[in-house]
Amino acid sequence: MRRGFAVVGLVLCLQACAITPPTGTVTPRAPATTAASPTSTATPTRSAEDGFTASGDVPAVLDPELLDGIVTTVDSRSEFARRIFANWPQFGLPLVDEAVSTHYSDTIRDFERDYPVGTQPTAAPELNLGWHVLAGSPSVVGFASDGYEFGGASGARSWRSFWFDPRSGALYSAADLLDRNAARTALATAALTRSGVDLAQAGADPLGAAPLLAFSPSGDLLVGFDQCQVAACAEGRVSLTIPRGQADTLLTATGRAARDASIHPSAPPAVAPTASPTPTGPTTSATPDPSATTPKPPAKVNCRKATCIALTFDDGPGPHTQKLLGHLRRAGVHATFFMLGSQVEAYPKVASAVAAAGNEIGVHTWDHRDLTRLTPSQIDREIGSTVRIIRKDAGVSPRLLRPPYGAMNAHVHAAARRAGLALALWDVDTLDWKTRSTKKTVAAAVRGARRGSIILVHDIHPTTVAAVPAIIRKLRAKGYTFVTVSQLLGRTKPGQKYFHG
Ligand SMILES: [Zn+2]
Repeated sequence: MRRGFAVVGLVLCLQACAITPPTGTVTPRAPATTAASPTSTATPTRSAEDGFTASGDVPAVLDPELLDGIVTTVDSRSEFARRIFANWPQFGLPLVDEAVSTHYSDTIRDFERDYPVGTQPTAAPELNLGWHVLAGSPSVVGFASDGYEFGGASGARSWRSFWFDPRSGALYSAADLLDRNAARTALATAALTRSGVDLAQAGADPLGAAPLLAFSPSGDLLVGFDQCQVAACAEGRVSLTIPRGQADTLLTATGRAARDASIHPSAPPAVAPTASPTPTGPTTSATPDPSATTPKPPAKVNCRKATCIALTFDDGPGPHTQKLLGHLRRAGVHATFFMLGSQVEAYPKVASAVAAAGNEIGVHTWDHRDLTRLTPSQIDREIGSTVRIIRKDAGVSPRLLRPPYGAMNAHVHAAARRAGLALALWDVDTLDWKTRSTKKTVAAAVRGARRGSIILVHDIHPTTVAAVPAIIRKLRAKGYTFVTVSQLLGRTKPGQKYFHG
C-alpha cells in the first residue's frame, strides 16, 4: 500500500540552490514505484542521538519513513575551506516546498555572505543544515530544520518548525496552532522557571520570535529558541516547556491535532502526481529482487596485473542513484558508494539495491558534519549510527570511512580505528558538485586518472550520473579496469588513510 508522499527521492544538489530556490521545478522525480514501503508501518520515535540537542526538553523525532516517499534536496559545497552541507525535504506541495526551500536557501546565502571565500578566519567556517520529522497524520505534518553554523570561533545551533496540512498544502502559522495571547502568558511563566533565560532578548514578542513550536514525546508544548537568542550562547538552543495540561487550554483544534500527530503519528495521505515519476526502465528499480538480496561479490581482479581504478560516489543514496545503478550494471562495473546515514534512512530501498548489485558501501557519516569539530564520542556516534543503518537497510558491513570534506585529525583516525574502518580518501577530485557539467566531469575524471586512482564524484547530481557511461568508456579505452575501493586497496588497516591504490 502506498502511503504518504508520492516520491522516493530527488536529491537535487544545485550549486545554484543558494540563489534560486530549487522548488523541484527543474528536477526530475524519481520513480514512484520505488516509494512504496509495504512492510513498514512502524513509526517509532528515534533515539536522542539522531534527534535534536537543546537545553530543555526536545521534540519527539519520528522515523522519516512515516512520510514515505519523501523527497530530499541536498546542497553540498566545499570551497577554499568553507564547508556547506544542507539537506531538506520536499513534499510535492508548492506552498510548503517554496517556504522550506526559501528557508534553507536563504540560510545558505546568508552564510556565504557572512563568510566570503578568501576571507576566512583560521578555522574553516561550516554550515550544516538537516531536518527531522516532528509529526504526521492525515491532517497535519510537522518537521523542523536542524542547523549548525561555525563561524571560525564557536558554533551556533538553530532550528525552525514547519507545520502544514498535507491535504490542502497550506502552511499553518503559530496562530493556527494556538491562542497566541494565552500562549504568551504561559511562555512568560515557563521562562520564570528557567534560570538564565531572558525572553526580552528575543524582542517584544518572544512567542512570535520563537523559531520552533513542537511537542515532547509526552505531549508537552515546546517553544524553541536558537542558540544565543534568549540565553547565554553556552546554553545552546533553548526550549521552554508548557506542560500538556496547560497547553490543552492554549491549543486550537489544529494545534491539538498537531500534538496528537507528534505522539501518535500516522501516515499522511499520498500527494498527487506533482511528483510524476521519471521513467528509468526496469533495470533501475530500487526494489531489490528477492533473489538478489545476497550481495554478489564483484568479479575477482588482480590489481597487481590489471590497471585498476575505482569510482566513488559520495553523499547519497538519492533519486539519481537508481539510474546510476543501471549505467553500472550495463557496463559491468562495480563502484563504491560513501553513504550518509540520513540519506540511507530516507532511501533504504535504494541503499539495498546498491549493495544487491554488488557495489561496495562505505560510511560518509550520518549528516556530513566536519568531524574535526566534534568530540570523540560525537564522532563515534556519527560513524556508529551510519554503520548500523547500512547494516540494517543494505545488509552489508562497511569497511571504509570517508570523512566529509576529507577533514581528519587524530580523533577521526582513532574513531575509525575503533570502528574497524580504514579511511578512504581520493586522488582525483572531479569538482562535479561545482561545475554541474557532464562534459567537465567526464574530462576531469579522465584527465586525472592514474593507475590506482580513486575518483571522487557525487551520485546526487544528475549531471554526474549522466557522465558515468562516458567516464567508464573512455577509461576502459585507456586500459583501466574498474574495481571497488576495497578491491583496489587490498588489505587495509583500520584508522589508516588511503588516497589511492
Ligand atoms: Zn560529502
